Parts: sequence; C-alpha cells; structure tokens
Amino acid sequence: MGKKYRINTSCPRCGCTATSAMTEEEIKEKYGDVPNIELECHECMMKLEADVQEDDGSDKS
Ligand SMILES: [Zn+2]
Repeated sequence: MGKKYRINTSCPRCGCTATSAMTEEEIKEKYGDVPNIELECHECMMKLEADVQEDDGSDKS
C-alpha cells in the first residue's frame, strides 16, 4: 500500500470546493506527478492547482 493523500481544491472563479482522498498510485495514474497536480473545476472548467496533503490515516482533530 502506498501513501494516501487528501486533495483539496478551491475554485477562485466560482467558489466551489472539493475534497477527495486518493492513494499515491491513483494520483500518479490520473494526474502524473505528486504533489504538483492540476485539476479542472467541474463547475466552470477553470484549471486549479490542487492542495495535496498526506493523509496519515488518523481521525484526530
Ligand atoms: Zn469553478
């Protein structure tokens, strides 16, 4: 099992936000290099730079 990441996006144009969790393998398959990945906003299709953070698996808050 590879590392897990949490991907947060926030669109400056339409203001929508999204969070998703993926493994390193899934990110590489879909987007290429971690952590410098680019996504498209699904509302307005603007290119976003995603904020990718390692997920250590803990549920502490
Ligand atoms: Zn947008």
